[in-house]
Amino acid sequence: MGRPQIIIVEDEESIAELLEFNLQNEGYACNSFTSGEDMFRFLEEKDHPSINLFILDLMLPDMDGLDICEHLRASSQYQNSLIMMLTARGTEQDKVRGLETGADDYMTKPFGIREFLARVRALLRRYVRMSQQSAEEAAEISDSAPYTLPTPNNASGPEDDLRKQLRAGDVVLDDAKHVVNKAGQELEMTHREYELLKFLMLHRGIAYSRDDLLNYVWGYDYSGETRTVDVHIRQLRRKIEDDSSHPELIQTVRGFGYRFKEDD
Ligand code: CA
Repeated sequence: MGRPQIIIVEDEESIAELLEFNLQNEGYACNSFTSGEDMFRFLEEKDHPSINLFILDLMLPDMDGLDICEHLRASSQYQNSLIMMLTARGTEQDKVRGLETGADDYMTKPFGIREFLARVRALLRRYVRMSQQSAEEAAEISDSAPYTLPTPNNASGPEDDLRKQLRAGDVVLDDAKHVVNKAGQELEMTHREYELLKFLMLHRGIAYSRDDLLNYVWGYDYSGETRTVDVHIRQLRRKIEDDSSHPELIQTVRGFGYRFKEDD
């Protein structure tokens, strides 16, 4: 097996390009299409190449992501490929429906690219395990080493952190309960403040530009100004910092953006 082959079907070109760029950067072979029809035509023309992972947007102009998913699952060539569905902030209903149709994972937009890459890695690891289990000669496989996946930056991956509480000093974000406490006191947070804080705490020590934060936290379609980020950061600092005029948790990266303090 060569490099993992990934296909993206996403009609919003800016998202498709961003995902494709980052996947290729991680060493995956990746093709993106803006419609299911285009993708199926490609598979036909290429004589049904082996694809490890399909990343399908739910809302598409012609056939939607679930239709594509059903077609793939009904085909002999792709019934065992991995499928990840993407959708705008969705309902549980969508999620259940997507998984019943046979998707292996599901991500709600907007999402951070690091979280996305971590999920892709986790899925492909599962794929390697599955193919190893079904292989006849275990020894042969360990000799030929199917392929080396890119080394994760973070062994546990951000998605594992989501199940836990995120802590920084006396600030605790409990994502299961959707609350933030400081010194045991629950803080009042707007939706964006919460999402922004969660994003920063999930990616501690990493500097993000204001544009990145707009994309990851507000969403790719959001056409606001980067000043919006500054305003929210200021509000967050008032709530979580001991002294908001000398912030220690949310640090300013001069001429660039912001970074959450690396470790306690
Ligand atoms: Ca779409």
